Amino acid sequence: MSYDVVVPTGGRETLAALLVALGGGDGPLPGRIVVVDDRPAPAGPLALGDPPESLRELIEVHAGEGRGPAAARNTGWRRSRSRWVAFLDDDVLPEPGWRQALARDIDALADRAAGSQGRIRVPLPAERKPTDWERNTAGLERARWATADMAYRRDVLSALGGFDERFPRAYREDADLALRALDAGWEIAEGKRITVHPVRPAPRLVSVALQAGNADDVLMRALHGPGWRARADAPRGRLRRHLATTVAGAAGAAVLATRGPSKPSAALLGAWLAGTGELAWNRIAPGPRTPSEVTTMLMTSALIPPAASAHWIRGQMDRRRLLRHPPSKRPLPEAVLLDRDGTLIHDVPYNGDPSRVEPLPGAVEAVDGLRAAGVQLAVISNQSGVGRGLIGERDVAAVNSRVEELLGPLGPWLVCPHAPGDGCRCRKPLPGLVLAAAERLGVSPESCVVIGDIGADIEAARAAGARGVLVPTKATRREEVAAAPVVADSLREAVETILGPGGGA
Ligand SMILES: [Mg+2]
Repeated sequence: MSYDVVVPTGGRETLAALLVALGGGDGPLPGRIVVVDDRPAPAGPLALGDPPESLRELIEVHAGEGRGPAAARNTGWRRSRSRWVAFLDDDVLPEPGWRQALARDIDALADRAAGSQGRIRVPLPAERKPTDWERNTAGLERARWATADMAYRRDVLSALGGFDERFPRAYREDADLALRALDAGWEIAEGKRITVHPVRPAPRLVSVALQAGNADDVLMRALHGPGWRARADAPRGRLRRHLATTVAGAAGAAVLATRGPSKPSAALLGAWLAGTGELAWNRIAPGPRTPSEVTTMLMTSALIPPAASAHWIRGQMDRRRLLRHPPSKRPLPEAVLLDRDGTLIHDVPYNGDPSRVEPLPGAVEAVDGLRAAGVQLAVISNQSGVGRGLIGERDVAAVNSRVEELLGPLGPWLVCPHAPGDGCRCRKPLPGLVLAAAERLGVSPESCVVIGDIGADIEAARAAGARGVLVPTKATRREEVAAAPVVADSLREAVETILGPGGGA
């Protein structure tokens, strides 16, 4: 069982405690712990506290650019390399033995299982009734598929395109992904591992702010149909009552303003008051009736119905625009395998001289774009100059180092040193280098894209089951261009073809 842990974080100090908790107890260590720093404007490096020795080497921090938890989790799992990805929120505390329990949960899964859900425990005060906010947090214990602790198979995430970034908050993006997995025929199991989710301090108006989720519910219904709540076990909530209360209040105020006090205005405002009062009582009754809690409940109960209504209307207005921009259906490749000569750098035949290395225009931006998208890289290069006795392996290595000096790290280098008559299995157009690169990167050849400048690159890709993108140069033969499945004018354009418009920019 191999797994990576992905934690998106807004920079909360709870992250340090999570890392400590993750290090406790037995069980297999993750391959890596990918922390995605999703602070919109980081003021400095992310504070990781003092992680246990055993985990320190495994932690990688990536920038999430403040685009929200769905985008941050996508950034995270795309940088993971293990078969399983365990998502944890940055404010949870896995119980001691969590790693062992996760391994057991995953081992017990059926072949059709794409995911395993952890059990969330929200500790509540024993000595008094829980507040509205505490009860709200405790709802996580009953939520299905909450990414506070949720493990998914990486290949399923890849096939589904990951989280839908049209869900901008930590709300419904988890249920949306799970429903898409179920639609694709997968199962999601309930695990036995336990993660504690303490109640965090929240601002007084948190319950009003949470009404933004009504817009996400509109998108859920548009994407998954009216039956989505039943499938996701999501209670209906009070939206209809909030709308009625808001309409009554607004109409009552309008009638009062235009015609002065009258029976209709009194009736409408009475209905508004009744609706607001009922909501307030429903929230006050089960809680601690302290002056502070009661005041908060009265104040927020007046604000919640109009806030819910406004967010619902906003969701309705955004719905069409969002539906017109579905996330890319074609998943990103796991890796891009780059030819060297004529693709990354100008082709100098049998070059053994690092000083003659010159990147092609746009090569730096192109490989940067691939790295930014979390796509792994490798270089696959025929160097028959070695087999022909024109240059040595050391010359090739020196040239390759120079390429990386100019373009940055390009992943493993797979070089075929043989001459055409040597009968090797690696010289392109044979698939050997593509297969070896995929193996080195731990991905399937089908999830790789090869970019090269001649037909042999594209043939090698095809023979290995990978996709090929040809970026012809003047030296490329016309029939090679005609035979290529995808042709791009430049390396930059090839990368755009792979990542989508603006991808990696
Ligand atoms: Mg070439």
